[in-house]
Amino acid sequence: MKNTKVIKTGILQTASSNLLETAARLKLDETLTRKLHDPIERIEMTINPVLENGKMVHIKTFIVRHNDALGPSKGGIRMTENVTIDDITGLSMEMTWKCALIGVPFGGGKSGIACDPAKLSAVDKEIIIRSFTRNGRRHIGPEVYIPAPDMGTNQFDMGHIRDCISYSEGISITKGCYVTGKPVILGGIVGRTEATGKGVVFALKAACEKRGMSLQGVKVIVQGLGNVGGIAAREIVKEGAIVVAVEDITGALYNNDGINIPELLDFIAQKGGVKGYPGAKPMPREKFFSYACDILIPAAAGSQITAENAGGIKAKIIAEGANAPTTPEADKILNRRNIFVIPDILCIAGGVFVSYLEYTQETQREQMTLEEVEKRLADRMRDKFNEVYDYSMKKKIPMRHAAMDIAVNKVVEAIRIRGFLP
Ligand code: NAD
Repeated sequence: MKNTKVIKTGILQTASSNLLETAARLKLDETLTRKLHDPIERIEMTINPVLENGKMVHIKTFIVRHNDALGPSKGGIRMTENVTIDDITGLSMEMTWKCALIGVPFGGGKSGIACDPAKLSAVDKEIIIRSFTRNGRRHIGPEVYIPAPDMGTNQFDMGHIRDCISYSEGISITKGCYVTGKPVILGGIVGRTEATGKGVVFALKAACEKRGMSLQGVKVIVQGLGNVGGIAAREIVKEGAIVVAVEDITGALYNNDGINIPELLDFIAQKGGVKGYPGAKPMPREKFFSYACDILIPAAAGSQITAENAGGIKAKIIAEGANAPTTPEADKILNRRNIFVIPDILCIAGGVFVSYLEYTQETQREQMTLEEVEKRLADRMRDKFNEVYDYSMKKKIPMRHAAMDIAVNKVVEAIRIRGFLP
């Protein structure tokens, strides 16, 4: 495409390249490709809240709505020191395809707050989240953009967003669902916190079924032991797998007999990371991806599997538990090596699927049981995995290409059916 250049910056570059390759495969014309590529809205806001110590801070925040052909934009709030509007744009694009693929009536969106939550007290974090909500209020709502947790944010932050909006309106409830991933007592849904990580394991179970494998006794390595990776590790061990190596921002560890995951997660809750955990041995972080295993779950940051380390990966299956963990160059290497990749837009779509259940529950003032939520999540992950797998077999293309083709085709269909009036 002449006017739609691949942008060379991490997550956005990956998202951009995935879309342009898909558009070429589907033979979409240039204007439609540009419409699918560029976000409908990219907002940068500066907030200057006064923290507990009486000092004012200066923080950049972003809201990007990529596409709303299928419904209001949906996507989490990333709170990290170095997050950029380009990262948020790439992530919002991924959300468009994820929502379309998993079959929920949402478009793609994402937001970012450029500061490090680990350096904030609980009170200061709440002040910043409320300031972001007040400043971004006109961009947030059930018909526009509905935030959720992402890296650096959690259910309590979502509770503060809900409170901030109902407080500003002077009413005790919000009219519809303004934010998902809230605490259950504030209208959140049971099982949302675990949904993304559990969804990863449901997708892996479906992959093993198709490939005639069992999870019993398979060796797994997990990068990132936060909300997604921690739950995925805990759930896969329940299926009989052995987690033999882990890595997070503080270090990497291995134990070929299997790491005691519940014990490790308790350790992380107290110490903030895997470093120093006595039940496994430390290893250099750069050796993590080449550790011998059957399954690799990258569930940390983007652009972790690169052209430099993809050749050394021993896993036969990679379940992408993070957004855009694989660069386009690395993806080509993995395809050449016949490594089976469950792509992010499928593998971690369980979170947004359960967010959708929360949205419908709140809109209808209903309550779902954990059993109901988990059954619907398990069924949806298996059905969508099978749809993507069958398409990839039929077309003889990798899973990522199949997932993108299905998702982009759905958005294109919605755009066409809505029509092209000004
Ligand atoms: P989190 O903040 O709970 O945990 C992140 C983990 O990754 C931590 O263990 C951290 O130490 C580790 N980490 C961060 N940078 C790293 C690096 N460079 N190298 C090694 N480890 C690193 O975050 P989360 O909510 O678990 O999100 C993880 C990924 O999943 C992100 O890509 C996020 O966008 C994606 N995701 C999350 C959800 C959700 O519901 N939480 C939903 C969809 C996608």
